[in-house]
Amino acid sequence: MTERTSGTAPAGVELRGRELAAAIRAETAERVAAGRRSGRPRPRLAVVVATADEATLWYVRSIAKAAEGVGIACDLVDLGPAARPQEIRATLERLGADPDVHGVMLQTPLPEGASAQELAAAIDPAKDVDGANPLSLGRLAAGLAAFAPATAAAVLALLDRHGVELRGARAVVVGRSTVVGKPLAHLLLDRHCTVTVCHSRTRDLAAVTSTAEVLVAAVGRAGLIGAEHVAPGAVVIDVGTNPTPDGGLTGDVDFDAVIGRAAALTPVPGGVGPVTTAILLRHTAQAAGLT
Ligand code: NAP
Repeated sequence: MTERTSGTAPAGVELRGRELAAAIRAETAERVAAGRRSGRPRPRLAVVVATADEATLWYVRSIAKAAEGVGIACDLVDLGPAARPQEIRATLERLGADPDVHGVMLQTPLPEGASAQELAAAIDPAKDVDGANPLSLGRLAAGLAAFAPATAAAVLALLDRHGVELRGARAVVVGRSTVVGKPLAHLLLDRHCTVTVCHSRTRDLAAVTSTAEVLVAAVGRAGLIGAEHVAPGAVVIDVGTNPTPDGGLTGDVDFDAVIGRAAALTPVPGGVGPVTTAILLRHTAQAAGLT
């Protein structure tokens, strides 16, 4: 999509993420290679995992593979599903103190009794490439430099890639998690959108979402957003990833109902997801001083 839109583009454009993800990975690979040529160390990302969930383990292995593809080393630090919070915290602190590690990520889900938000406070903010430390969110809210969560940054990257005009646009974010909804609201505000955040207690969701020129769904409920939630000509970004009975993934947006009404819509899979991983690698290169 090349035309600049603020809800005025022709209906039905699919905002695919794979091409953008490939471009971000290529740019990151080039930065890493240039760094190596000038004697910089290979960037290293450590992903801390404490689960036996197969889908999660598959996901972190896919991050490691993508990292390898751009010349970034990736250590999967698997503490196992019985890991105690103290052990996870100590691991994060050790990685923070390790000069050979540039990026640190704590993968959810965590064992019962371990709070991802509490533990993320132990990630060194300079290595917090997935913006999980509450300090990172606070700095984003204050308009200071910080790593945004990769998913929130991916939404912005997709909107920018497709030339969506954000200045002055009415943006509605459905979902207020610290991982996606809240940081994204700050990023959009920073780009001069007028931002509304919806959540499970929002009354008459469709009445609010249908005012949006840019609508982002980050809930985790398949098909929550139907045609009645979308203004004609809106740009819709679907962050949701919900498992389907056949082992696939579907988004929060009813794609078939909305594609003919929206100016543009991201598919699931193949929209926000691939861009998220690519942004994580870009952040790791930045954390290693390769800007
Ligand atoms: P989360 O922590 O469970 O937050 C979900 C949010 O949705 C909450 O703020 C909740 O409101 C709100 N909500 C729930 N039911 C609602 C309803 N009926 N109407 C309006 N809002 C409702 O989830 P998350 O971690 O932000 O993730 C959201 C989705 O994005 C999930 O499907 C997740 O798998 C996906 N995700 C994708 C990526 C990617 O890279 N593609 C990355 C991260 C997450 P309350 O606050 O009131 O409970």
